[in-house]
Amino acid sequence: MTAEKTEAIVIRTVPWSETSSIVTLFTRDFGKITAVAKGARRLKSPFETALDLLAKSHVVFIAKSNDALDLLTEAKLIRRFRSGQRALTQLYCGYYLAELVHVFTENHMRLPGVFESLDESLVKLDEMHHPAKIVLAFELKFLSQLGHLPTFELCAGCGHFVESDPGGTYLFGAEAGGLLCSGCLPGQRSVLRIRSETVDCFREAIVESESKNEDTWNIPTISREEVRIVMERFLCSLVDRRLRLMDFLDDLRR
Ligand SMILES: [Zn+2]
Repeated sequence: MTAEKTEAIVIRTVPWSETSSIVTLFTRDFGKITAVAKGARRLKSPFETALDLLAKSHVVFIAKSNDALDLLTEAKLIRRFRSGQRALTQLYCGYYLAELVHVFTENHMRLPGVFESLDESLVKLDEMHHPAKIVLAFELKFLSQLGHLPTFELCAGCGHFVESDPGGTYLFGAEAGGLLCSGCLPGQRSVLRIRSETVDCFREAIVESESKNEDTWNIPTISREEVRIVMERFLCSLVDRRLRLMDFLDDLRR
């Protein structure tokens, strides 16, 4: 058993005993880890504020084999998530990104780019950029890193290009994983009818968030509600349940 060193973002923390916590960290080099932090709940914790939720820290841990929890031996704060003290929306968005990463990843599964995306998004939330955009850009980038990006150009059923219907709307299949043409509609469950503005917004968000041109795109007011409905339905259908923090993101719909 060797001690591993890396940078990490704290995505979950639960009390384990009177003096210890179990912390879930998303690390730069090892993906998600779940570790015991002995003494973390003491008044004079050796970890100080380095294990606060959404904090970014240098950590040292001992990886245990098979299903045993890893052991966290050191944590030193690099940056704390401050915007939570100023704005609830920002705080809930930060918690939501942490929950997303927690729910959609397995321990010790390396996922290149996820640490950096989460890190950058938390910094932007802290700088009070537009939270609806930061959340959507993160969701799309993260889904792409997981290989689950929904399709907004081609039909999720047959792969052909999808035209909007005469009323200017599209069909989105949450379970199918993207837009649907009328031929692929029969038998599909969890289908939403969405505006073409919303489809354009998703297309632009996917291209622009990949190229980091985040100042050049926006979520039109008319699509804000639909964007959340589409993302939430799609994400819930992937894991078969609703994420807890989704109930706290109403501000993103306005
Ligand atoms: Zn089709």
